[in-house]
Amino acid sequence: MIQLYALAQALSVLLGLLVGSFLNVCIARMPEDRSVVHPPSHCPACGHNIRPYDNIPVLSWLWLRGQCRDCSSKISVLYPLIELVVGALFWLLFRRFVPDVFALNAPSLVTFGLAAIFVSMLVAMTFVDIRHYIIPDQLSIYAVPVGVLGVVLVAQLGGGHLALASGWRDSVLGAFIGGGSLGLIMVGYWVVRREEGMGMGDVKLLMMMGAFLGPLPAIPFILVVSSLAGACVGLPMAFLGKKGLRVAMPFGPFLAFAGILYVLHGPEIVAMYFPGLSFLLQ
Ligand SMILES: [Zn+2]
Repeated sequence: MIQLYALAQALSVLLGLLVGSFLNVCIARMPEDRSVVHPPSHCPACGHNIRPYDNIPVLSWLWLRGQCRDCSSKISVLYPLIELVVGALFWLLFRRFVPDVFALNAPSLVTFGLAAIFVSMLVAMTFVDIRHYIIPDQLSIYAVPVGVLGVVLVAQLGGGHLALASGWRDSVLGAFIGGGSLGLIMVGYWVVRREEGMGMGDVKLLMMMGAFLGPLPAIPFILVVSSLAGACVGLPMAFLGKKGLRVAMPFGPFLAFAGILYVLHGPEIVAMYFPGLSFLLQ
């Protein structure tokens, strides 16, 4: 029984590595509106297709020593790094949503699947936003129905979790309150400063997150944690840089960080630090 659970965990890491490999393709192609399934992966420098045995997560990068087999141009260390990060995240998610061998059943596994889809989109979106200052609609507003339908399917199969929206009402409300709250902050900022603090991309992103997580306590949690994380990174950068507080920094990655933290530990953090809000955790 113990071995079975260890095997299941190992499979979750393997799944994470493979999904990470696919996310690398999404990160490279989505900003350019190219298909993520066609054509097959190829070297951006010489155009040669990547052989199946050179497309194994992490290992291929290591034995090719970070170079293309055909033209020897460098392959970024970000590729294996993203695969490792997603592998680790899938392992943490698996242990949270399928906590022991007795939870190896359909309801727990689909709940894990929904959380894994959510986190995968946030990882892909983070790297696209850092590099291109955009958040693709496929990873934000177009994924709102994916969240609503996913939550409904999980509920139908008897799954679900405190850290995820509980049903279609919770999910739809989460999308509206997520998008609405950040939209209001954006309008307020514009009225006071006459400039855009955040983009519509961030509003659409928080809609997607609300659809997966529900409105309360997820949305206030994400707004507070992402602002704190943004300040921790942004203020030192502003002091070191020459542009002062007007430094341009994408906010999406901080929203993503807060969303991933919420799925992994959010309800527990709320219960520990804001016991008065525990009534929200039904
Ligand atoms: Zn090449």
